[in-house]
Amino acid sequence: MTVDADWTTGEPRLFAQRCPEGHAWYLPRLRCPRCAAVVSTFEPSGCGIVFAQTSLHRRVAASGDPAGPKAKEAIGIALVDLDEGVRMMVRCVPGTPVGARVQVSIEFDEGSQRLLPFCAEVTA
Ligand SMILES: [Zn+2]
Repeated sequence: MTVDADWTTGEPRLFAQRCPEGHAWYLPRLRCPRCAAVVSTFEPSGCGIVFAQTSLHRRVAASGDPAGPKAKEAIGIALVDLDEGVRMMVRCVPGTPVGARVQVSIEFDEGSQRLLPFCAEVTA
């Protein structure tokens, strides 16, 4: 069985999976977590609604020196319900309101040096 490349394998692409019973989820699996059916992979639109949001506050080295002065940094984390019925955890701007319409994309995060899912609020 082959699994399409996505951000978890180092490519900036968003994929989700579903089974013939209509269950859908985000992170790649070999079988449906609810009914154990064979899965298919699809590329969701990335459009969704914020279900929940919180902010993580941490101290980081302000000058790059781990022993130097620290600065505060806030990281927004949201649960987003995609239009295709997939709930996923993504980074967001701290304070993004619950119920906001957002677009999820895969972007490179300088802090962790990895590809991560981010969402941005969509206006109109
Ligand atoms: Zn299923």
